[in-house]
Amino acid sequence: MTPDTPFKITYATSSSPGDEVDAAFQEAATAARERAGGEAPMWIGGEARESGETFEDRSPIDRRIVVGRFQRARREDVAEAISAAQVAYDAWRSVPWSERVSVLRRAAELIGVRRFELAALMSLEVGKNRFEALADAEEAADLLRYYCHQMEAAEGFSRPMGRLAPNERTRDLLKPYGVWGVISPFNFPVALAAGMAAGALVSGNTVVFKPASEATASGLALDRLLAEAGLPAGVFNTVTGSASVVGEELVSNPAVAGLVFTGSKEVGHWLYRRFNEKRPRPCYLELGGKNPAIVTARADLDKAAEGVARAAFGFGGQKCSACSRVYVERSVAAEFKRRLVERAEALPVGDPMEHGIFLGPVIDRAARERFERSVAAARKSGRILTGGDVLVEGALEHGDYVAPTVVEGLPADHPLFVDELFLPLLCLGEVDSLDQAIELANRTEYGLTAGIFSEDPAEVERFFDRIEAGVTYANRRSGATTGAWPGVNPFCGWKASGSTGRGVCGPYYVAQFLREQSQTVMA
Ligand code: NAP
Repeated sequence: MTPDTPFKITYATSSSPGDEVDAAFQEAATAARERAGGEAPMWIGGEARESGETFEDRSPIDRRIVVGRFQRARREDVAEAISAAQVAYDAWRSVPWSERVSVLRRAAELIGVRRFELAALMSLEVGKNRFEALADAEEAADLLRYYCHQMEAAEGFSRPMGRLAPNERTRDLLKPYGVWGVISPFNFPVALAAGMAAGALVSGNTVVFKPASEATASGLALDRLLAEAGLPAGVFNTVTGSASVVGEELVSNPAVAGLVFTGSKEVGHWLYRRFNEKRPRPCYLELGGKNPAIVTARADLDKAAEGVARAAFGFGGQKCSACSRVYVERSVAAEFKRRLVERAEALPVGDPMEHGIFLGPVIDRAARERFERSVAAARKSGRILTGGDVLVEGALEHGDYVAPTVVEGLPADHPLFVDELFLPLLCLGEVDSLDQAIELANRTEYGLTAGIFSEDPAEVERFFDRIEAGVTYANRRSGATTGAWPGVNPFCGWKASGSTGRGVCGPYYVAQFLREQSQTVMA
């Protein structure tokens, strides 16, 4: 958060900020439900585009609700979007960086003004509760502001260099690459799309954006908002649907200079390989995680239970940063489990647009089936401490709702301890020491987030020193492994969780969308 920003809802907000916020969200939620169901075009070169084939996006809250009908992009639509971005690039890169900053700041202000509208749409479209959805919108605005600040702090990334002769003048410049493909996941539909796009745009690149199919309406809302903020036609283009069609054109079209992707490891690795088949091009991946929390014998167990429950079950475990494994020292395990189970069972599950609901549905039927398979595997090799059920009572039968679930007694290398599930399912293991917990925590191909609960500073230091993760937290009641914020918690995936070594939300993000040119002039 920048120093002079007022109170805002973040992922760490746990108590109601007041009746006014609730009422404003409720009004926006009603409007979002009323507006749902219409057909929307894609936007290419500043113009609405229809492809002749549409797909339907239904709400995970209630599958009877059609959020909208969207265009299924054809290969030629994507190629045209790339051409439009290419045409717009020359003018956009020549716009003084301070003017680009002004446009994106305007977009951040607009997001702020429309935060309830955006949040209600995200809630309806992907099933976030009101806090998570409002935080998503607020994060989007703060990402834009933070990346503008980076451009200003670096004075446009132009600086004088040394000289070897008195008649030599040298300068170092970072310049944009050209057209970037931006591909975003369903789980932070506005924040992550806005953040990736802002990194590319503020530094003078142009963009072809593909939102996740399950979050198309939210992606198109961002597109319209950027246009309203004053981005010239063709600088930001949105193509929808048909992941494989869009992907194939983005990786094979030589006019695409760079690709930035947030999503699953499988898709990210495929894009990375294909995009660099013919020549090396920048391809930035932010991928999944299997994020551990450690609870030592010196932990405040109340803090630990709350922090782990929030991180494991917030947005149904469908965050890349979600806590999906917890290692607890044996001497405090029984009491920790009692408190954790108590918290999990107290979480209100239901329509996330309703007041007081913590946990909404999982994103789709495939996620629910993954939950059922995981629970069956857990029953076979371990024990269900709480949860394990698909919830179908009353109105829940029209969505894919599952109970927050804690599993114990699995072997350390069981697939449920290893694979990213993206579900509200937490695996618990008991350990004899902090060192054993760290060894198990690191025994994964991922390296995204990790947390520890211990009131002993030496233990916390040991954890920070040895844990293999890019985003680390100690004693965080608001989320053991979740809740990073722009300018506060840089978010960098290590190992198979990312490809850049520099995180979103962090101070080195924007520079990645620029390439260096040294200029030497002899008098
Ligand atoms: P996903 O299935 O990998 O999809 C991500 C995006 O890629 C979507 O827009 C999807 O489009 C698109 N896509 C799929 N196949 C493609 C292809 N062949 N070519 C081009 N694009 C393609 O991931 P998700 O289910 O939306 O999101 C969950 C994943 O994202 C989890 O693994 C999570 O950990 C990760 N994530 C990571 C971070 C981070 O910062 N590290 C943040 C959030 C999420 P369609 O929707 O049309 O298939």
